[in-house]
Amino acid sequence: MLRWLDILRYATYSNPEPDWRLEQPEEAWKAQLTPAQYAVMREKGTEPPYRNTYCRSYAPGTYACRGCGSLLFQSEAKYHAISGWPSFRHPITKGAVKYAFDKSHRMSRIEAMCNVCSSHLGHVFQDGPAPFGLRYCINSTSILLLEDAAHAPTHPNTPPEG
Ligand SMILES: [Zn+2]
Repeated sequence: MLRWLDILRYATYSNPEPDWRLEQPEEAWKAQLTPAQYAVMREKGTEPPYRNTYCRSYAPGTYACRGCGSLLFQSEAKYHAISGWPSFRHPITKGAVKYAFDKSHRMSRIEAMCNVCSSHLGHVFQDGPAPFGLRYCINSTSILLLEDAAHAPTHPNTPPEG
C-alpha cells in the first residue's frame, strides 16, 4: 500500500511506468471532452465543491478515467472527507496514478494525474484516514463510475428469474 513517503518519492524522482500511454494533440482532447472536462482534466482546473456528481455518491463500483478509461479507484476506498469532492484512501493499483509537485495558487500541493493519459484528477493530501493517512481529493469531472452489477441492490419482492 502507498504511503506519503512513496508519493513524495514518485513526485520527486519518477512515477511507476504505466502499462501503456495515451498521448494525443490538444485538438483531439478538445473534441473528446466537454468544455467542463477539458478545463479540469487538461487545464488543471477545479470543479465546484459539493455541486459535483460523485461527492456524495457511494454506489459500489470502479471509477475509470474520463480521458482513457483506465481504472483508477474503487468505491471501497471512497470515504466521506467533508471536503466537497470525492475522496479516496488509495488508488486501485500503485501505478494507476502519477504525481507531481504543484506550486500554483500559492500552495504547495501534490497533483494526482492519470498515469496513462496524464489527465489532471486532483490532489493528494496526508490528512486521510488511518492506517496510511492518504486523501485523494478528486474532481468528479475527471472520473466515471462503472457500477458493479454484482452489488446492485436486490428487491426482496421480486421472484427469482427462471
Ligand atoms: Zn487517463
